[in-house]
Amino acid sequence: MLKQAGRMEKTLRIAIAGGGIASLCLAHSLTTQHPDWSIQIYEASPQIRDEGAAIGLATNAQEALKLISPSLREALDEAGGVECVPAVRIMVGTGKDSGVCVGDVPQPTPQITVHRTAFWNALRKRIPDGVLQLGKRLASISTDLDAEHPVTLTFSDSTTTSVDALIGCDGINSTVRQHILGPDYAPFYTSGYNHRVVVPLAEAEEAFGKEYCSLRTQYGWIGDGGFLLTDHCDEGRSMQVIAGWSDKGPWPYEAPFVEWDKERLKRDLEDWGDIGKAMLKIFLSRPTLHAAAGRTHPHTPTYLSPSAHIALAGDAAQSFPPFLGAGAGQAIEDALLLSTVLGLVTSPSDIPSALRVYDSIRRPRRAAIAAASMKAARLMTGRDPEVGVDPERIRGLLPVWKKEIFGVDLEGVQREARGLFEKGRGKSDVGGES
Ligand SMILES: Cc1cc2nc3c(=O)[nH]c(=O)nc-3n(C[C@H](O)[C@H](O)[C@H](O)COP(=O)(O)OP(=O)(O)OC[C@H]3O[C@@H](n4cnc5c(N)ncnc54)[C@H](O)[C@@H]3O)c2cc1C
Repeated sequence: MLKQAGRMEKTLRIAIAGGGIASLCLAHSLTTQHPDWSIQIYEASPQIRDEGAAIGLATNAQEALKLISPSLREALDEAGGVECVPAVRIMVGTGKDSGVCVGDVPQPTPQITVHRTAFWNALRKRIPDGVLQLGKRLASISTDLDAEHPVTLTFSDSTTTSVDALIGCDGINSTVRQHILGPDYAPFYTSGYNHRVVVPLAEAEEAFGKEYCSLRTQYGWIGDGGFLLTDHCDEGRSMQVIAGWSDKGPWPYEAPFVEWDKERLKRDLEDWGDIGKAMLKIFLSRPTLHAAAGRTHPHTPTYLSPSAHIALAGDAAQSFPPFLGAGAGQAIEDALLLSTVLGLVTSPSDIPSALRVYDSIRRPRRAAIAAASMKAARLMTGRDPEVGVDPERIRGLLPVWKKEIFGVDLEGVQREARGLFEKGRGKSDVGGES
C-alpha cells in the first residue's frame, strides 16, 4: 500500500455490526476523523428502536463521550438527560428495616439518567446520512487475508460486502462473538429477571408520593432476593421503574423477553412494604406486564479474530449483570478506545496493530467491571451472606461503591494506547492476544 503525504491511496472500508450505543459513538468518531473512509453500520432491526427504559451514565461514561467528541456529550443533554443529585440513594426494601435510608453513594460528578431511545436518536443525528443501514442482519463472516478487503460479511438477505475491518457491536447475542469464540462463550441465563417501565411523572407521583419523586436521585432498594429502582429521565418529565429478582431458578422460556403473569409479581412484591405497593400500582396499571431474563457472558478470552481484522465491542465483547449500571458506560469506553487507535491508522496494514492494542487495554478493564457487577448483583439482592439487608453493613460499603467504574484516567488510557500503537505499528503481535 503506497501512501502519499500521510494519506492512503485507497479508501479503507470499516463495517460495524449492530446499531446500538457503542456503534453510533464509534461511527460518529470514525466518520469525523476519517471522512475519506467508507464506514457502514449494519443494524438488524428494520426500524428505529423504541425501548422503554433509561440508562444511568456515570462520570466515566460522560468523560468518554466528551473525549470522543464534545458533540456526543451534548447529545446527552439534548436527549433530556437528568442529573441525579445525589447520584444513587440506597434504601432497605424488605425485613424489619424496610423503608430505612442507608445513605448516598458518593460520585465524582452527578450521574446522568437518560431515556435510551432519546439518547439513541440524538446520537444518530451525529452520523452522516447513509452510514446506518437498518434491516441488515449479519448472518455469517469469512476471512481471506489475500483478498483486497479481507473480511466478507454475508447478510440474512443473502447480500455480501467485503471490508478491511469489522467491529462487532451487535449486543449480547452477537453473531460476531459467535464467529470469533464459538458456542462455548455464548450468553447464559442467570437465575433472575426484571420488569422495566417508563411512566409520566404525574403517574409516578400518584404511586410513590410527590416528596419521593421530587428528589432527582436514583433510588436503589435492596431486599431479600430482589432489587427495586426508580430514577428520572426526559428532563424530569418521566420516571423509570424497575423491579429485578435473583434466585428464581432456571429460565424456562425460549425467548429472553416474555409476557408475565401479574399475580406472580404480586407475590414477588408481597414483603416490600410501601415501596412494593407503589411499584405494584405502576406495573398493574399497564395493559400487559413483561419480564426480561437476566443474561450474561462475563468471560471472554479475546475480543479479536486470529488475524485481528475483527473485534468485539459493547455487550458483544462482554456482558454482565446490570447492578452497577455500567454496561452502556463500558460500551462508550470501548468506542473511545477504538476511535483512539483507529484514528491513528494510515494504512490497512495498521489495523491488526490498532485492534490488538484495543484488546490488550480494554479486556482487563471490562473483566474487572464484570467481576464487580457480579459481586454487586449478590449484594444488591440481599444475597451477600456478610451483609444481607442490614443497613449498617450496607452503609459501610457506600464509600467504595462503584469505585472500579470511576477509578479510571481515560486520557491516560488514550496516551497508553497511542504509545503502544506507535511502538508496534505494523508488527503482528503488539499487545498480543492472551
Ligand atoms: C435492566 C438493565 C438495566 C441497565 N441499566 C444500565 C445503566 O443504568 N447504565 C448502563 O451503563 N448500562 C445499563 N445497562 C446495560 C446497557 O443497556 C448495555 O450494556 C448497552 O446497551 C450495550 O450497548 P451495545 O451498543 O453494546 O449493544 P445493544 O444496545 O444491545 O445494541 C446491539 C445492536 O445490535 C443489533 N444486532 C444484533 N444482532 C445483529 C446482527 N446479527 N446483525 C446486525 N445487527 C444486530 C441489535 O438489534 C441491537 O440494535 C442495563 C441493562 C439492563 C438489562
